[in-house]
Amino acid sequence: MRPNGVGTPQARNFGGEEEATLSIEEYKAFHRRSIEDRDGFWSEQAGRIFWNKPFETVCDFGRPPFARWFVGGETNLCYNAIDRHLDERQDQDAIIYVSTETGAEERYTYGDLYAEVNAFAATLRELGVGRGDRVIIYMPMMVEAVFAMLACARLGAIHSMVFGGFAAGSLAKRIDDAKPRVMVTTDAGMRGGNVIPYGPLVDEALETAEHPPESVLFCRRGIDEDLELVDGRDLDYAELREKHAGAEVPVQWVESSEPSYILYTSGTTGTPKGVQRDTGGYAVALAASMEHVFDSAPGETMFTASDVGWVVGHSYIVYAPLLYGMTSILYEGLPIRPDPAIWWKIVEDYGVHTMFTSPTAIRALRKQDPEYMKRHDTSSLRKLFLAGEPLDEPTSRWASESLGVSVRDNYWQTETGWPILAAMMPGLEDAPVKAGSAGFPCAGYDVELVHEETGEPVGPNERGVLVIQPPLPPGCMSTIWGNDERFVETYFSDFPEELYSTFDWATKDEEGYHFIMGRSDDVINVAGHRLGTREIEEAISDHPEVAESAAVGVKDEDKGQVVFAYVVAKSGDKLETEDGRSELEGSIKEIVATKVGAIARPATIHFVDALPKTRSGKMLRRSIQALAESRDPGDLSTLEDPAALESLRSGTSGEG
Ligand code: AMP
Repeated sequence: MRPNGVGTPQARNFGGEEEATLSIEEYKAFHRRSIEDRDGFWSEQAGRIFWNKPFETVCDFGRPPFARWFVGGETNLCYNAIDRHLDERQDQDAIIYVSTETGAEERYTYGDLYAEVNAFAATLRELGVGRGDRVIIYMPMMVEAVFAMLACARLGAIHSMVFGGFAAGSLAKRIDDAKPRVMVTTDAGMRGGNVIPYGPLVDEALETAEHPPESVLFCRRGIDEDLELVDGRDLDYAELREKHAGAEVPVQWVESSEPSYILYTSGTTGTPKGVQRDTGGYAVALAASMEHVFDSAPGETMFTASDVGWVVGHSYIVYAPLLYGMTSILYEGLPIRPDPAIWWKIVEDYGVHTMFTSPTAIRALRKQDPEYMKRHDTSSLRKLFLAGEPLDEPTSRWASESLGVSVRDNYWQTETGWPILAAMMPGLEDAPVKAGSAGFPCAGYDVELVHEETGEPVGPNERGVLVIQPPLPPGCMSTIWGNDERFVETYFSDFPEELYSTFDWATKDEEGYHFIMGRSDDVINVAGHRLGTREIEEAISDHPEVAESAAVGVKDEDKGQVVFAYVVAKSGDKLETEDGRSELEGSIKEIVATKVGAIARPATIHFVDALPKTRSGKMLRRSIQALAESRDPGDLSTLEDPAALESLRSGTSGEG
């Protein structure tokens, strides 16, 4: 089934129809209609989910920039993700859980998932959780995290996942903002075989938090035997699960715009922003995206290698595949352990059709012996979606060639919950792939590129800030939790007409292909010439001996800023001799000069062992920049590998 924007989606929810290929022009018409006939388009899409009570208004935009979708309609995310499929999919796998950290390999059919989520919901209900209450879920990639999310949705409660790798201070900040009734957690996480006990982190966070939850529910894995539950505060889920086995908890129908979850994301200030998501709009947008962007079908298997603590995990490990009647793989572990073939083994074992991960993960695999890519039969895999950061052409090409799949870049943010732009959507397969382009706006997004100061639209190939004309489509954030003012101020105040700013630079060519150039806050200005870090990094990564790089602008008396490049070399051989090192430096500088321009030639190349990134793969450029300028690197709570920072501090450079 292809996006045609017509017909009665109510009747064609679950595919089976003939495939029809759209032309590029037809795709553009389909997209145009989603903007020009907004209400008509979305009211059709709304038929993809079950409404206990029909909505009265498709979009209420009476108080801009706040948008409310499917007003008056009553629905429930858990019902749509599980109950609704039971007749048809009772015995189909809903979640397949694989952990290379603990060795777990478990399958949960839709029937099993129904039972688990009901037992969890009964437990939360016993702890006093009801409609509108917040539940903090602080967990690694455990299947109970998914049960907990869906149980909250069943009860009409609002979950707030806190990524398992966050430290106590970050957890406490989120607790104080969300003011949860209950917290769900575990005894320990594991990463690369190392145990990370959660107990001490939880204790510390709850000691410092001003609004600690009444109870803490521990889903123990038996990894940290030393965990001691605190009397009167902590509960052991194993006991409550047994007590509530077989329970059936009625679904709490909620009004479409009631919040389903809060997900914190960092901004320019130290206080995280609680991205608030609605219920009905999110369900509709995700279900539509499975067809319009992810080109998937009910009954197929999706493997999103991300984390349930991030937005990609919320949308494309948990909600979207389940809303769409698919099987979703939940994987705990590294992509290279026990060996770099592990993901492809999972693809073979479970016949995965669609994969979704980050370019960083693919780059990590690209550094390994190519032999690992050939070990398994990956012929079931058809598409690899990559998002979260710029996708460089060599990485994209490598993935496509080694796996024989179509690699599809898509661009979005925690705030939007689902893709804003996507390359090769159904209908755009025939549009030639342009290296580095994240493609075209997805249905529902009225995207514009505007001048950073005037807010006027920029011309073809001119750089502008990517903005979205409100109302934001369904599924996008409805506000910042508890802070409407900050929502308006942060996102809608930079440009006239209350345009939503993504804070990303982009260009669009004559044919409508978009190119994301990096955050507007990461730009480098050399002697008045603005350079995108991404342009420079792409040029550097074209160098055959470079594995990865980060470019930052560093203060310079003469030129305002100069470019510093931090480079991870594929092999350390050349770096062992003075000659080898300076030859490598010279050729890296040269490749930037030739590909981007002499103005972008890095003043300094630092060779490092690793680059500092968040656990979701975002480069901490601002921390690199701060270190280069001998300033405080700022909040490093999301840092993936502290050794990368050390490597950066002691990084050897080739001044020039
Ligand atoms: P997050 O909210 O953490 O997912 O980060 C969102 C930001 O990641 C965006 O504002 C972009 O700067 C960047 N980003 C996400 N996807 C892409 C992509 N496909 N290409 C380039 N940048 C991306």
